[in-house]
Amino acid sequence: MQLLKLIVLSIHMKKSIILRVLRWTILLSILVFITVMGRLHQIIKLYPSIDAFCPFGTLESAWALIRYQSFLKRIAWSSFILLFSSITTGLLFRRSFCGNICPLGFLQELFGLAGRGIFKRRFEFGPRLTRILRFIKYIVLFTFLALAWKTLGLAIRPFDPWIAYHHLGSGELFSEYLIGTIILILSLLGSLLQDRPFCRYLCPMGAFLAIPSKLGFSRIKRNESSCINCMKCNKACPMGLDVASTDVMKSAECISCSECVNVCPVEDTLYYSRPSGKKLSAWIIFGGTLLIFTTVLVLTTVNKQFTWKAESGLEKKAERLLWGPQKIREDNSLVDIIQVFQIHPSFFVEKFNLENDEQFYQPLSELGIDPAELEGMVNSLYEEAGRDPKRIYGGSSGGCSGGH
Ligand code: SF4
Ligand code: SF4
Repeated sequence: MQLLKLIVLSIHMKKSIILRVLRWTILLSILVFITVMGRLHQIIKLYPSIDAFCPFGTLESAWALIRYQSFLKRIAWSSFILLFSSITTGLLFRRSFCGNICPLGFLQELFGLAGRGIFKRRFEFGPRLTRILRFIKYIVLFTFLALAWKTLGLAIRPFDPWIAYHHLGSGELFSEYLIGTIILILSLLGSLLQDRPFCRYLCPMGAFLAIPSKLGFSRIKRNESSCINCMKCNKACPMGLDVASTDVMKSAECISCSECVNVCPVEDTLYYSRPSGKKLSAWIIFGGTLLIFTTVLVLTTVNKQFTWKAESGLEKKAERLLWGPQKIREDNSLVDIIQVFQIHPSFFVEKFNLENDEQFYQPLSELGIDPAELEGMVNSLYEEAGRDPKRIYGGSSGGCSGGH
C-alpha cells in the first residue's frame, strides 16, 4: 500500500514537472519569437510594429473603431484577434493569457528565477500596501483608455515597457521611450526581489482581463482536510497570493499559471475546479489556452486576417531588396532599385549610358550589369549620405535622395 502511494505520488510529481517545463518552454518560445518580430520591424519596416501584436492596442482603438470604423495607427486586425482570444480564455480559464502566453510576464519570471537564486527568498509587501498598489493598474487602464480615445493615438506608447524592450539599442530608447525604459528597468530589477511587479501593479491589460476573469469558468480550490500547511503554494505563486489559507481562489489577480497546483506535494489538495465542483486538470487549463490561441491564429492567418507581414505593395523580386542592397540579383531591374532605394534615375542613365526608358525595366542580366557592382554603388550612395540602406523602407532614417 505504501509502495502504491509512493508510485502515485511520483507520477503526480513527474506530471507536474513536465507541465512546468512545458509551460516555460512555450513561454520562452513566444518571447523569442516576438523579440525576433520586434527586431525585424526595427531593421526593416516590412514587418508590422510590435503594437499590432498587443491586444491592448484594440482597446485603445475602441473609440476610433466605433466612430470611424478604423484602428489607430500601428494597430491591425492581429491585435483585435489577440484580444478576442484573451477574452475567450479569460472567460474559460481566467487570466490564463497573463500566465501562459504573455511574453512580458515571462520576462519578469526569468528575472524572478535569477532573484530566487541570488536572494534565496521573495519579498512581499504587507496586505494593505499590496491592495493599494494592485489598484494602480486599474487607474492606468482607465487613464490610458481615456487618453487614447480622446487623442485618437496610442497614448500608452511612451510609457510602455514592452515598446521600450523592442527599442533596446535604438536611439529613441532614452528620448521618446525614456519613461517606458525606466519602467522596464524597474520592473526587471524589481522582479529580482518580487515576482511579476509590472503584472501585479501596473499592467492595464491585466487589469482589463480581471473583468472576464471574474466570470471565469475555472477556480483553484484547496482541500483543507488534506492540506499539510507546507506553504509551498504561497512561495510558488508569482502573483503573491495567499493560496494556503484560501478554500476557493476568487481573486482576479490569479493568472492560472498552475505553479501552486504543480508544487503542492499532496495529491488532490490543490486543484482547478469547474463551477459544478468537478476537478479540472491543470493540463486542460494550459492546453486549452494554447489550443484557443493556436486555433484562432491558424484560422485567421489562413484567412489572411492575421497579418504577420506588412503589405509592401512591391513585386516579390523587388520586395526582397527591402533586406538591403546585398539582395540585388540578376532578375532585378533598375526600376526595382529606384523604387526601393529611392535613387534618382539620372544616376543610372549617367553610370550605365542608358539610351531609352525601356532599359529601366529590363533585368540586370540583359543589361549586362553586375549585381555586385550595383550593390557597391547603392552602399556608397548611402554611406555618403550617412544612412543605412537596410532601414530605408518606411524607416525613420528615410531614403537616399540620390543627389547625383
Ligand atoms: S494562485 Fe496559483 S494559479 Fe493563481 S497565480 Fe498563484 S500560483 Fe498561479
Ligand atoms: S502546497 Fe498544498 S499542502 Fe502545501 S500549503 Fe499549499 S495547498 Fe497545502
